[in-house]
Amino acid sequence: MGKDLETIAKIEEVEQEECECCGLKEECTQEYITKIKNSHSGKWVCGLCSAAVKERLIKEPRTAMEVAVRTQIIFCQEFNNSRINPKLSLTCAMRKIARRSFENRSTSEGSSTSKIARSTSCFPNIDS
Ligand SMILES: [Zn+2]
Repeated sequence: MGKDLETIAKIEEVEQEECECCGLKEECTQEYITKIKNSHSGKWVCGLCSAAVKERLIKEPRTAMEVAVRTQIIFCQEFNNSRINPKLSLTCAMRKIARRSFENRSTSEGSSTSKIARSTSCFPNIDS
């Protein structure tokens, strides 16, 4: 049969999966892919989309996972349709969403010196 050996080989194999929301490709092990799919109603989502979905569920705990994932897919598609440089802008937008859940509220929000430093670009090194 040789089935057992095949199974072992597959677990260690790294596969490239495309995010069902934004289309970002990530290389992951089968085990990880299965884990993510199981917790996102059968859909593979990248780390950023996963964070966005999680954020949505925190805000609206009664939302079903399936609905939250679908909302994220629609969000990404609309974003892609309305932007000239979709991937970059989308990543920026989602990073902002993801960051909100980790970052403590800025303590120096009222200070006038640090306000000018922030610009609209969040990836100064990426230009292609
Ligand atoms: Zn994604």
